[in-house]
Amino acid sequence: MAGEARAEQVVRLSLQKALDLISANEQELGRLDAAAGDGDHGAAMVRGLRAAVAAIDGAESATPGELLVQAGMAFADAGGGASGALFGSAIATLGQQLGPGPYNSATVAAALQAVLKTVSTMGKAKPGDKTMIDALAPFVEAIGEATDMDQELADAWRTALPAAEAGAKATASMVARRGRSARLGDRSLGHQDPGSVSMVYLLRAASDALTELCGSQ
Ligand code: ADP
Ligand code: MG
Repeated sequence: MAGEARAEQVVRLSLQKALDLISANEQELGRLDAAAGDGDHGAAMVRGLRAAVAAIDGAESATPGELLVQAGMAFADAGGGASGALFGSAIATLGQQLGPGPYNSATVAAALQAVLKTVSTMGKAKPGDKTMIDALAPFVEAIGEATDMDQELADAWRTALPAAEAGAKATASMVARRGRSARLGDRSLGHQDPGSVSMVYLLRAASDALTELCGSQ
């Protein structure tokens, strides 16, 4: 990817697109959470993303990494609940790991590995527990493979996206073992995990921003 100014635009556009996409799907996310949780997931994501976008609107002199840290902290404060803490930490960890750059597919893939580790450690969820990890883990693996094949960041990200989508879809046939919905056992069967669907939206928003600003297509 080109320089820091471009990376800063990618961060801002990704978060704006995530807010737009998740706002448009807020009710669907709420319904998925109502199947075995408390129904607040869509609203929590919109609150978190609004706060994240607002937090970096005024922050003009920060590096892309610093912007993500500020956005993640604002997300965690405003979003609340399990997803607020976990998505907030994910965004902030990405920022810490990316730091001042350079930003390319290898550094981003490595930073995403660290994000997966942080979220897994915080929430103690493994693949198959029906959480956001079921979308994030296959994405991280797939972007690592795309990077190993020397794909540019925008291409690598877009190539990895179907793995996240497939992971989120597969949660429909899982029984929740972490988070609020784990208390209700089989009731979550047949419904996708809302956090895994939100993870796909965030990853898709970033993919669209990368393609728009740095893509070869
Ligand atoms: P809450 O459960 O506090 O109401 P939300 O409804 O906003 O929070 O978010 C629920 C989502 O958070 C779940 O769909 C799941 O993806 C994710 N989640 C909950 N607990 C964990 C955990 N321990 N590890 C990973 N993800 C989790
Ligand atoms: Mg909830």
